[in-house]
Amino acid sequence: MTDEKTEVLVVGGGQAGIAMSEHLGAEGVSHIVLERGRIAESWRTKRWDSLVANGPAWHDRFPGLEFAGDPDAFVGKEDVAAYMEAYAAQIDAPVRCGVEVASVTRLEGKQGFRAETSAGPIEADYVVAATGPFHTPLMPKLVPDTAGLTQMHSIDYRNPDALPDGAVLVVGAGSSGVQIAAELREAGRDVYLSVGPHGRPPRSYRGRDYCWWLGVLNKWDAEATPGVEHVTISVSGAKGGHTVDFRALAHAGITLVGRTESYADGHLTFAPDLARNIAEGDRNYLAVLDEADAFAADNGLDLPEEPEARQILPDPGCVTHPVLDLDLAKAGITTIIWATGFALDYGWLKVNALDADGKPSHLRGISDEPGVYFLGLPWQTRRASSFIYGVWHDARYITDHILKRRAYLAYPGKTA
Ligand SMILES: Cc1cc2nc3c(=O)[nH]c(=O)nc-3n(C[C@H](O)[C@H](O)[C@H](O)COP(=O)(O)OP(=O)(O)OC[C@H]3O[C@@H](n4cnc5c(N)ncnc54)[C@H](O)[C@@H]3O)c2cc1C
Repeated sequence: MTDEKTEVLVVGGGQAGIAMSEHLGAEGVSHIVLERGRIAESWRTKRWDSLVANGPAWHDRFPGLEFAGDPDAFVGKEDVAAYMEAYAAQIDAPVRCGVEVASVTRLEGKQGFRAETSAGPIEADYVVAATGPFHTPLMPKLVPDTAGLTQMHSIDYRNPDALPDGAVLVVGAGSSGVQIAAELREAGRDVYLSVGPHGRPPRSYRGRDYCWWLGVLNKWDAEATPGVEHVTISVSGAKGGHTVDFRALAHAGITLVGRTESYADGHLTFAPDLARNIAEGDRNYLAVLDEADAFAADNGLDLPEEPEARQILPDPGCVTHPVLDLDLAKAGITTIIWATGFALDYGWLKVNALDADGKPSHLRGISDEPGVYFLGLPWQTRRASSFIYGVWHDARYITDHILKRRAYLAYPGKTA
């Protein structure tokens, strides 16, 4: 039996895979999307129960379909998954669920690739790796298993009731860590939150959501600066959306600590950087307000003034007198949740598209291996790349590249 053939094989049926399918389909390019789980599986099973989108419904969507209901609402994760499924149906995307790609290799002596999948081999001229921006949970090996604590990555957190009784230390103050810490505190837990460098933009300012400000200020299209590591951003759509304010979290009873540094004999130590991290976050926050005000003034926008947005709460005791050494047993801590990010794993992609560390070697998603593309990576082409709004545009770019390459390869050469 000969292998099944397609022109483009898209690996992954999340938002990136669906966006890719839309553009390929619109151009009449034959393709198959393989998804090892269900469409938008990450939204269904790799997020905590109460998660809502970080951007409002009017923004965090594809151009061809609106969410039902209030456009300013922050949609729950199940509804995001349902939206992706509806979108796939609307564009008649050729998605095959429950099919895992085990490997992709180059065909020898001819153009194209061979994918070994759980449903048999497939040959394709082009491969798009749309397997997501977040693969392997990163959990620093700081606290040994023998410490007698429950330790989990934020990807495995579901809700407060699923944790053992006792206080919780949440490490990492990006959007995940902050939202999980707040939820645990509201559930009556004693919570410690380890805060590293971060940005904390306003949820909304002068009647406009932060997503809108990023749009008008052209910041969704900001490109990554080579060599510059972007600090994590703390935003939340929870409870209708609100600005993340670490001082407010502390006043609500969360003990803020600096970056988690080391562990010995039941004690964790934290860097003396909490006040600095909070102050840098404030600077980032106020800079957004300044830019927004300048834009509103320059463009004569009639938006309501919001001077109260510049009021900063007094520093809580945990910031002025930070805990640098914590006896975990004395603090009653039974669980540590590491909201410390993810690494990429393209072990299945056995072509010349990865660097020596296994990271994608690419420019704007076009890999070093002609015919292989990445989609959905953080900062792939711009800030928006890993988000619903941005991946759609990157998928367009990759589709255009495939069309161009196809045209070159089809050139018959001089006839005369
Ligand atoms: C907590 C959290 C909240 C977020 N909130 C927002 C938000 O509000 N708005 C927003 O725009 N973005 C948000 N994001 C970022 C981003 O939108 C999501 O991470 C999104 O899931 C990325 O979509 P994707 O299609 O690139 O990857 P994924 O959704 O991860 O899709 C990749 C798919 O590939 C499949 N796959 C992987 N390997 C294989 C294989 N070998 N064979 C077959 N299939 C495979 C997986 O099963 C998965 O379904 C959030 C991320 C996180 C972690």
